[in-house]
Amino acid sequence: MKTGLVLLREQAGHETGSHPENAKRFPGVVERLGNDSREHGLPILDSRPAEVEDLLRAHTESHVENVRVAAESGPTWLDGDTVASPQSYEVALRSAGAALVAADAVSGPDRSADSMFAIVRPPGHHATADRAMGFCLFSNAAVAARYARESLGIDRVAVLDWDVHHGNGTQDILYDDPSVLFVSFHQWPLYPGSGWIDEVGVGEGRGFTVNLPMPPGSGDREHLEGFQAIAGPILDQFDPGLLIVSAGQDGHVADQLASQNLTAAGYGALARASAEFAAGKGIGLVALHEGGYNPETLPLLDHAVYAGLGGFTPDLTGDTPAPEVGDNGWPERLAQIRRAQSVYWPI
Ligand SMILES: [Zn+2]
Repeated sequence: MKTGLVLLREQAGHETGSHPENAKRFPGVVERLGNDSREHGLPILDSRPAEVEDLLRAHTESHVENVRVAAESGPTWLDGDTVASPQSYEVALRSAGAALVAADAVSGPDRSADSMFAIVRPPGHHATADRAMGFCLFSNAAVAARYARESLGIDRVAVLDWDVHHGNGTQDILYDDPSVLFVSFHQWPLYPGSGWIDEVGVGEGRGFTVNLPMPPGSGDREHLEGFQAIAGPILDQFDPGLLIVSAGQDGHVADQLASQNLTAAGYGALARASAEFAAGKGIGLVALHEGGYNPETLPLLDHAVYAGLGGFTPDLTGDTPAPEVGDNGWPERLAQIRRAQSVYWPI
């Protein structure tokens, strides 16, 4: 399983000040994953700016224009926690464009890797068709899914979102679209408040949205069970031509924005399961960075993800152990999710 990186070298141009989603998140990540790439001979590609027409496959023209104008006169707050600074529009174009570079690298005519991990900010999965929210300007995952359909001729694309927050923006954009399966693991309850089990899609898209709201305190075991019992079998039956992973590592036990107990080993295992699924189907995998807000632990977590994608052994020295948690209601929740989804999928 050959993986690689897409880097957004201009990321610091998206200035957010003293905000959890800031330019200091990634230098340590880029250094560590750069070392991994050299050690294992893995490619490192540069992002390119997405075209406006790429964004318009997922967002309204007025939203794209709003972000551009807000950035020009920035810093401008687009919602209570999402800011656009003067270079934010250009950086956001490159953040989405990195997803397209990754899609080309794993699925295009000059396929050069089985998976690519795009280290991008601003993140994307909270941005809806017509508005920025939750640190996100454009949904990189939805833009990439639509690009894969339109430009790479891939009929069915799956988006697997394991960020600790619900990927409401990606879901919003793809909600009525049966050509894109959206599967989200997230803590419940938590920001942004959506992502309950009964949100399954609408119209022709009914059954193509799969939400796994996890009780607080869920860790590696619960997430892997959810993958094996629900996400994996549904992904297998959907039979996508490309797998996009919204990889947010903010469910880590040492991340302050949520209450989950994932470890670096758990993220590595999720990445490995995803990469093995893609390899089994003979399809490409695009991993897009979403959350992860503890700059002390993020390099280790992303190293674990990168190793899982590439099938090499991670060095997990320094990981934070997860506390013992008793029954947090997960078995009942899993049964509830299975009942809801078995209407659409024989699981
Ligand atoms: Zn998040």
